[in-house]
Amino acid sequence: MGLNDALRDLYLVDQQVRGLESRLDGARRHVRAQEIKIEQLTQQQGELTNQLKHTQAQSANLENEIAGSDQRIGQLREQMNTVKTNKEYSAMLVEVNTLKADKAKLEEQALELMSQVEVFQSEVEHLDNALAEQNRIKDLADKDLAERTGEVGERLSELKAERADKATHVPSDSLEIFDRMAETFDGEAMAPVVEEDRRRMEYICGGCYMSLPVEMVNRLISHDEMVRCTSCNRILYIEQELKEAMGAK
Ligand SMILES: [Zn+2]
Repeated sequence: MGLNDALRDLYLVDQQVRGLESRLDGARRHVRAQEIKIEQLTQQQGELTNQLKHTQAQSANLENEIAGSDQRIGQLREQMNTVKTNKEYSAMLVEVNTLKADKAKLEEQALELMSQVEVFQSEVEHLDNALAEQNRIKDLADKDLAERTGEVGERLSELKAERADKATHVPSDSLEIFDRMAETFDGEAMAPVVEEDRRRMEYICGGCYMSLPVEMVNRLISHDEMVRCTSCNRILYIEQELKEAMGAK
């Protein structure tokens, strides 16, 4: 088999391998995107839960302080019933009033914290729901990937074996160029010669659409050697139909 036929065979199988792989890649990317969303939601949930706990602890401290004030006010009131002098009584009254004023402030703060706790609780709940939904979407994505892998997996390994076999028919220096071009052009290592105008002998590269000198096209027909587009470097091939039409001319 000639070099150009071997390259063409390799290219055709390589295209099929890439086509199947891209179907799996799409499904893999979809799974990964869902995983990232879950990671983000889990992180948010962790941060919010910490804030909630912190606020709940602050709230509990305040409740303790308020209870302490109540206790002290109760004690003072009892003592006020038994004091002997007006001076002692007034001093205790001042303390009770101060404690009451402080307690009112603490209660205000406690109310504020409680409403914060409620906000955090509803946000955590909201995130729980979002996470459950996101896990459901990821399960579907996993299922889709498994299904696609099941569908194309076997065919893909067959095609890969075929590609490896076709590659053995291409000399290593040409294979190296083929692989490099496939890498550069996302699988499009080769491009067909396209006839623009036969009478004027105008030909272009089917990869980059730049014109090709007719000598180059003739060389591709008459010599079995690798010919590459002078503009994009893709390996050129010529369809049998065009080859025959040019030969018949
Ligand atoms: Zn080109």
